[in-house]
Amino acid sequence: MSVERTLTIIKPDAVQASHVGDIVKMFEAGGFKIIAARLVRLTKRKAEGFYAVHRARPFFESLTEFMSSGPALAMVLEGENAIAHLREVMGSTDPAQAAAGTIRKLYAQNIERNAVHGSDGPETAAFEISYFFPGIELT
Ligand code: ATP
Ligand code: MG
Repeated sequence: MSVERTLTIIKPDAVQASHVGDIVKMFEAGGFKIIAARLVRLTKRKAEGFYAVHRARPFFESLTEFMSSGPALAMVLEGENAIAHLREVMGSTDPAQAAAGTIRKLYAQNIERNAVHGSDGPETAAFEISYFFPGIELT
């Protein structure tokens, strides 16, 4: 185990539904430290760049429309094993499959409007952190 940083986004559905405080509370209860935070309104282009890995998927257009539909809260979280740990705290992509007590089980509306994003590995975490926080120190 080692101290890692990961990128999370509280997505537009959860900001719109006023779940920001509850979700941040779950991050803190999970032992994460908040290193950086920014309320962003993504352009369609910025959302497309963020999810470029999914550009061939049938849901890409709808996903990037959704992600640019309203304010979202991008944050860098730090902690032991933070990348995998955050994905546990978030739960499965589809809230119908998510374990009890996870953020997506509690707050996601469906597989697309699923409340939160979390980086899925060290390389994507580094890319995603720099995508939103270009000046941050990564050491
Ligand atoms: P994220 O990358 O947002 O943390 P994830 O890693 O659990 O989520 P991915 O497979 O990377 O899931 O998909 C990225 C996002 O695309 C999902 O979080 C969700 O918003 C959307 N998405 C994924 N699969 C579908 C689908 N089958 N239909 C609609 N939207 C989807
Ligand atoms: Mg993903």
